[in-house]
Amino acid sequence: MPELPDLQVIAEFLQRELVGAAVTQVAVLKPIVLRNLYGGEVAAPLVGARVSAVERRGKFLLFALSSGARWVVNPMLAGRLRYHETSERVPGRPFVRLSFDNGSTLSYSDPKSMGKVYLTPALELVPGLSGLGPDALSGELSLETFAARLRRHHGELKGILTNQQFVAGIGNAYADEILFCARVYPFRKRNTLNSEDVSRVYACMRSVLQSALDTLRQRVGADIHEEIRDFLLVHGRGSMPCPRCGTAISEIHARQRVTSFCRQCQPGTLIRQ
Ligand SMILES: [Zn+2]
Repeated sequence: MPELPDLQVIAEFLQRELVGAAVTQVAVLKPIVLRNLYGGEVAAPLVGARVSAVERRGKFLLFALSSGARWVVNPMLAGRLRYHETSERVPGRPFVRLSFDNGSTLSYSDPKSMGKVYLTPALELVPGLSGLGPDALSGELSLETFAARLRRHHGELKGILTNQQFVAGIGNAYADEILFCARVYPFRKRNTLNSEDVSRVYACMRSVLQSALDTLRQRVGADIHEEIRDFLLVHGRGSMPCPRCGTAISEIHARQRVTSFCRQCQPGTLIRQ
C-alpha cells in the first residue's frame, strides 16, 4: 500500500514532469474506478487543460488543472501509477490513462480495484479528503499537538496511527516501522502509554518517515510504479532476525492485516476480539 513517503516522492516527480503540460487525451478502460463528480463527459474538464500543480495530502495525490478541475488519486491497497511514453506499451492492464502534450502518459492500474480516481470541481466533494488529520510530517504537528490529539483516541496504538483522521499518511508498513523504532507493542492500548512513550512514538514517526523519504528520493526516479520496501527493518520481514536484538521477527494476522514486530524489543500480548 503506498504511504506517505511513497506518495510524496511520486508527487514530487510528477510535479517536475507535468506542470505546464496539457492533457491531450483521457481513456477510461475500467469505469468503476473513476468517479466523475462533474457528471457528463470525462474529457470536457480535462482535455486542453494544463497541469498547474501536483501535491500529496495524506494518502491522496492531487492534480490541479488550469480548467479548475482536480484529478485526485487514492490508491488504497494496490493502486499504482506508471509514468511512461505515450507510444510505449506497458505491462498490466491500465484502468485509466491520461496523456499529455509532452509525449507522456500517466496510467493508473489497480489489481484489487479498491482505489479510486476522482475528477472533481472541488476537493471538498472527495470522500475522506476533508476529514484528514494533520499530515504526519507537517511542520504544524508539534509533540504537544500530537499528544493532545492522541488523548482523544482510544484503542490500540497501531490502529490509531493508521487512522487517517488522527494523522494522515501512515499505513500498515510504516506503522510497524514507527512502533519498532519506539519499542512499543503494536497492540498496546493508548491509555497505557506514559508521556515518555508518547514522545518516543512522535519522534520515531518523524524520523522513520523522513528517513524513508530521503531514501526514496534517491532511489525511485521515474519508476514510480515500483514500491521500494527493502530497507524496512521489520515490516514484511517475519522470521528474519531483528536488526536490534537478533530475535526472530514475529508476524501476527489480526484486525484484517499483518503486523510485524519484535517480541523482545516490543513486549506485549494481543487480546483477540
Ligand atoms: Zn528485537
